[in-house]
Amino acid sequence: MSARQSHVPELTDGFHLVVDALELNGVSTMYGVVGIPITDVARIAQARGIRYIGFRQEQAAGHAAAAAGFLTRRPGICLTVSAPGFLNGLVALANATTNCFPMIQISGSSERAIIDLQQGDYEELDQLAAARPYTKAAFRVDRPEDIGLGVARAIRAAVSGRPGGVYLDLPASVLGATLDASEGRASLFRAVDPAPIQLPSAAAVDRALGVLVRAKRPLLILGKGAAYARAEGPIRTFIESTGMPFLSMSMAKGLLPDDHPQSAAAARSLALKNADVVMLVGARLNWLLAHGRSPKWSDECRFVQVDVSPEEIDSNRPIAAPVIGDIDEAMKLLVVALGDRPVTAPRVWRDAIDAKKAQNVARMRAHLAADAVPMNFYGALRAIRDVLAERDGVFVVNEGANTLDFARDILPMHEPRKRLDSGTWGVMGVGMGYAIAAAVESGRSVIAVEGDSAFGFSGMEVETICRYKLPIVVVVFNNGGIYKGDEVNRWSSDPAPTVLSRTSRYDKLMEAFGGTGYHAEDPGAVSAALESALASGKPALVNCMIDPTAGTESGHLQSLNAESTLRPSP
Ligand code: ADP
Ligand code: MG
Repeated sequence: MSARQSHVPELTDGFHLVVDALELNGVSTMYGVVGIPITDVARIAQARGIRYIGFRQEQAAGHAAAAAGFLTRRPGICLTVSAPGFLNGLVALANATTNCFPMIQISGSSERAIIDLQQGDYEELDQLAAARPYTKAAFRVDRPEDIGLGVARAIRAAVSGRPGGVYLDLPASVLGATLDASEGRASLFRAVDPAPIQLPSAAAVDRALGVLVRAKRPLLILGKGAAYARAEGPIRTFIESTGMPFLSMSMAKGLLPDDHPQSAAAARSLALKNADVVMLVGARLNWLLAHGRSPKWSDECRFVQVDVSPEEIDSNRPIAAPVIGDIDEAMKLLVVALGDRPVTAPRVWRDAIDAKKAQNVARMRAHLAADAVPMNFYGALRAIRDVLAERDGVFVVNEGANTLDFARDILPMHEPRKRLDSGTWGVMGVGMGYAIAAAVESGRSVIAVEGDSAFGFSGMEVETICRYKLPIVVVVFNNGGIYKGDEVNRWSSDPAPTVLSRTSRYDKLMEAFGGTGYHAEDPGAVSAALESALASGKPALVNCMIDPTAGTESGHLQSLNAESTLRPSP
């Protein structure tokens, strides 16, 4: 070796710096679809021991990253290519922001100078501008020596305060740029305490108890923020020492088991309508709670709200006692404060809820036992419920319209953060991404209960499930339609707008990629298929035939469905 060569400095480049920065900040898994210009990011990540899970479409990869963020409290990473790949992923990033899940979409992008003059580059798009309205924060790194800073800022923005989706734009020129390796190393750092815990003031805690002690009909509502905060310990203590009835929003189910004696789930309408004080814990008073307004709620109701985001307060109804801070810490402080100022939910109120519960539970029991032929939602879900009752730790992913509404009520959850569903937007297409993330992050089994229409949005990810050999059982509720499968087009031979192929064999799709397919026409076949699929721990899909006349248009959301008063009649 000549003296001259021995002085050639060791080099690094943008690709390596991105992976180094992520690794330094504890990222262990990435989801995405590779292509120009980010393929080498995934390769280098794999070489470093970071797991890369490659999808068939960016939206599903993004949903996986978002779910990973919710489950791990670290930002889920989604890697996308420029323009169209970026836009596909952006749906998931916006959904993550809406759901308060920490996620970072890292996207390659094309040549800035050409994009800015709109000269028509390969996959030209001003991605930073496009991302900004849909994200909590959006950054572009324009120099390789800023990659470490960009990654740290993205992580901090995603997980601090109210978590959300963050966009990080990496132009191809920055990824490919080289610099001196020691200079590169010096530019990287680990973000210190990226999600600082915030505490509510003593005055806020005191004010909240002041409102609660005077309540005659108090009710506590748990949202997915409480699940994210991992606050089940102090929440249970608070609920059990006050005797307050509680309701769980869908992704908060399992923080306390659904069969807890104080659960008011089976008397939801009565509880909402009559409560005089409602304590919201990590739940927003949005459309999912009828905005807190009559006729679902009492106009006299007063509110306590525990939330990390001060701007959330008063968004729909005036909040008498905001408690701003981390839910776990806030609930611990509230439990301590109960020592001086005990709160007791009056017996008459609890009895009224229990009486209504008994009525509704009996009615539901009859529906579940009816065993309709052909099979309907009740029969199929009873079979799934009974299989789940025998097993711990299984994740439930759920999307659809009727499939979502029925399953949310019928499948009880016993453990926190085991249910992932359509969430705040009521979005379709999250199913396979959420299921894949749950399996990858936990190593545990997942049952994805999918409407046939909902499944179609991400169905090709069955190949991803098979490629990574994940323990996921997809159950497609095949009623041949969006909502229902029995609409008839009276004007032409085309299928009606809500109709899908009734004869579809979704199980064959799973078989095509090496998984196991099952076809089930009655509850017995559903449980046999599930038992065998879960025991195998291998990818499986159950084509679960449901009566096409079962269910309703728009599910439980009929009130939101605008219908034409001038609809053509035959
Ligand atoms: P749900 O749909 O289950 O009702 P939402 O998504 O509407 O739940 O509400 C979740 C709320 O939880 C958001 O307002 C968010 O700011 C809040 N939140 C999320 N994480 C935390 C946390 N660690 N501590 C306190 N509040 C949190
Ligand atoms: Mg359907």
